[in-house]
Amino acid sequence: MKTIYLDNNATTCIDPIVLDKMMPFLKDRYGNPSSMHDFGGTVMHDVDRAREQIAGLINADPREILFTSCGTESDNTALLSALESYPDKRHIITTRVEHSAILNMCKHLSKKGYSITYLPVDHEGMIDLRQLEEAITPDTALVSIMYANNETGVVYPIDKIAQIVKERSVLFHTDAVQAVGKLPLDLKELPVDMLSLSGHKLHAPKGVGVLYIRRGTRFQPYIIGGHQEHGRRGGTENVASIVGLGYACEIAQKHMDYENTEVKRLRDKLENALLSIVPNSILNGHREMRLPNTTNISFEYVEGEGILLLLNEKGVCASSGSACTSGSIEPSHVLRAMGVPFTAAHGSIRFSLSRYTTEAEIDFVIKTVPPVIDRLREISPFWGKDNLAVR
Ligand code: PLP
Repeated sequence: MKTIYLDNNATTCIDPIVLDKMMPFLKDRYGNPSSMHDFGGTVMHDVDRAREQIAGLINADPREILFTSCGTESDNTALLSALESYPDKRHIITTRVEHSAILNMCKHLSKKGYSITYLPVDHEGMIDLRQLEEAITPDTALVSIMYANNETGVVYPIDKIAQIVKERSVLFHTDAVQAVGKLPLDLKELPVDMLSLSGHKLHAPKGVGVLYIRRGTRFQPYIIGGHQEHGRRGGTENVASIVGLGYACEIAQKHMDYENTEVKRLRDKLENALLSIVPNSILNGHREMRLPNTTNISFEYVEGEGILLLLNEKGVCASSGSACTSGSIEPSHVLRAMGVPFTAAHGSIRFSLSRYTTEAEIDFVIKTVPPVIDRLREISPFWGKDNLAVR
């Protein structure tokens, strides 16, 4: 059975060119970039080329690229660095729909006495910019708002948000883990101070990320050790993955148009078909302000886990918004924040495409999902004939 992989917001396959470029550093060129001898020292040129390639994708200066181990580390570093750099300020503003890399760090910080404002979102997943303005106080060390939501794909107006925050001279960080490689980004135009990205979301390997830090931004390291990364992060560089991420960024730039035309067309085809064929199906998130590859659909009166298991039997990989917490299935915090009713939030499925997704795969999924939902509804105690009238 062939696997149809529509879970690219969870992780992506490594581009074969990226893998080729990485291989020498996993075999013969294993030197430490900090070594004095040429065998190691020349590897630093490859790390620096990757810095340039990544800077090229987001129109930054290579010196503004700090290598980390993942998106989570980048997010954690941004928050902790802001608080350490401005020790008199003890307030952070974020949203209720961030990734756990931000939310759980905020939870941890609030236990340590910091105050956190979680901006609410409306039913489309959008924040209210006036609420953001009102939340900023002289005590605010950092505003951290994601570029694009991993579950719904909702894209936030980061240009407007950054402008509001910078007018008040507060640090601004954006978690762009889901946006980089899918949307064009220009950090010469966008006044963000820090930005997180992660290799494995854009066809580079797992275990490498970047924190972009605008030149002149006050910064304190999170990982303290050697002098690597100009003293901003200790630890011997993950050279092969860094090299891979560099090439992945270069390739992503070449595919940017395809991502926003062809991948989007396939996403729209899947979304429109499922919404029209399956009764009581609802799109979650803003219809326009969205990543081109993501659709999140609720199938009312069924459990997302049930859908995933039956799709899995057909070789289709997707993801549900719910998570199993202490024995019971909890709907996603993102959908709850958007006020999605319980009966719909439980049956939400995220399909996330990539440039490797084919038309034939989408056609197969369009044929496969409706009977799966029918089968589950037949055994659902909440589903009756009356529900059909709702639509
Ligand atoms: N932020 C967002 C929006 C994400 O989607 C993810 C991963 O799913 C992360 C952060 C964490 O990235 P990583 O898996 O590289 O730690």
